[in-house]
Amino acid sequence: MAEKKQKPKIKKSKKYSVNAEEIKRTGKFCPKCGPGIFMAEHKDRYSCGKCSYTEKK
Ligand SMILES: [Zn+2]
Repeated sequence: MAEKKQKPKIKKSKKYSVNAEEIKRTGKFCPKCGPGIFMAEHKDRYSCGKCSYTEKK
């Protein structure tokens, strides 16, 4: 019987790039942080990675 070896998943903590990966250029800026700070687009909302401001779509 073959033994299944589970590969340990190494989770890299990329604290400050995790949100950057989600950010698409929606052209939507955070109203709190002002122009220049893009908001990350999610399924049903936008969120700012800087101040955590969330806006529903
Ligand atoms: Zn913000």
